[in-house]
Amino acid sequence: MQTHNENYDLIIIGGGPIGIACGLEAKKHNLSYLIIEKGCLVNSLYNYPTNMTFFSTSEKLELDNIPFISNNPKPRKAEALEYYRRIVSSNEINIQLFEKVTQVKSNSNLKEVTTTKGNYKAKNVIVATGFYDIPNHLNVPGENLPKVAHYYNDPHYYATQKTIVVGASNSAVDAALEIYRKGGEVTMVIRSEDIGPRVKYWVRPDIVNRIEEGSIKALFNSDIKEIKEHKVIVNTPDGEQTLENDFVLLLTGYQPNFAFLDKIGISLKDEDKKIPMYDEKTMETNIKGIYLAGVICGGMETYKWFIENSRMHAKIIVNHILHKN
Ligand code: FAD
Repeated sequence: MQTHNENYDLIIIGGGPIGIACGLEAKKHNLSYLIIEKGCLVNSLYNYPTNMTFFSTSEKLELDNIPFISNNPKPRKAEALEYYRRIVSSNEINIQLFEKVTQVKSNSNLKEVTTTKGNYKAKNVIVATGFYDIPNHLNVPGENLPKVAHYYNDPHYYATQKTIVVGASNSAVDAALEIYRKGGEVTMVIRSEDIGPRVKYWVRPDIVNRIEEGSIKALFNSDIKEIKEHKVIVNTPDGEQTLENDFVLLLTGYQPNFAFLDKIGISLKDEDKKIPMYDEKTMETNIKGIYLAGVICGGMETYKWFIENSRMHAKIIVNHILHKN
């Protein structure tokens, strides 16, 4: 463990798009800053499905008006990785990768930031840790079997295989369509009575038509009761059904690391939705000098914040840091 003597103006936890936006803004205003990221650069995006297309147009994903040129109006994952990587390299953003922040302690005006590699000091800390690290579990027997995954990458793996996709939002719908088109036998298990309301408007007709024609099976108002090695038991409105099965993809969403927020002392302002305490005008939490930025602000309502509408957190926070006493 290395102890670093520099007192940074700002340490940013998380090297996602919003952490990078905060770094850019800090640099622009000559604050000394460091971004600490536990994985690779834009780690969450890197772990999104290989073929994913953003629902936002490229200009809405831009940071600090740096042009994001993509082949089509809505960019793909590979283009976004390239865009954010180029921002970091050409602006010489100060970022350390593969280093996880494990604790932040507030001692009067100074924060002590502990990571898996060292100790740092900063006057201010931004928590921009996103929501993609912790999947929502179903808590059903068999969820830990090796054939069950909470993340989907690429359809080829599921070719010819009897695959159950649980969920009805964008991730589940994209996976179901891709796997079906690579020869997988897909059954969707959907808790509600319809495909999710936020499914991309140009994808919705595709999934609705595939279900109607029977190319993709869908069990609505249903949930998984148990996962076994070669079968899955599903509760449906017509009673229990046992399906032959090779793989299960539980694409039922993700949640922020609430234990980490709790450990560093950030309270919740809404216990039900687990929305963390912060002042919307400054993004400062209940701890002076610790701020929130990006999707972490949404608590369990992870769909409320995305790159498009949270990139401005960077300017709000840096402006507050510059003008406070
Ligand atoms: P993240 O990108 O999640 O970054 C947080 C980072 O913090 C991660 O890299 C993580 O590794 C790191 N981290 C976490 N804990 C620690 C720790 N203790 N120490 C150090 N580092 C840590 N948004 C849009 O605006 N438009 C879209 O079209 C769009 N499409 C999407 C499609 C999919 C499939 C998904 C899942 C999301 C999509 N989003 C979209 C949402 C968008 O990706 C997120 O809003 C965005 O990633 C938020 O950025 P962030 O920097 O707040 O969080």
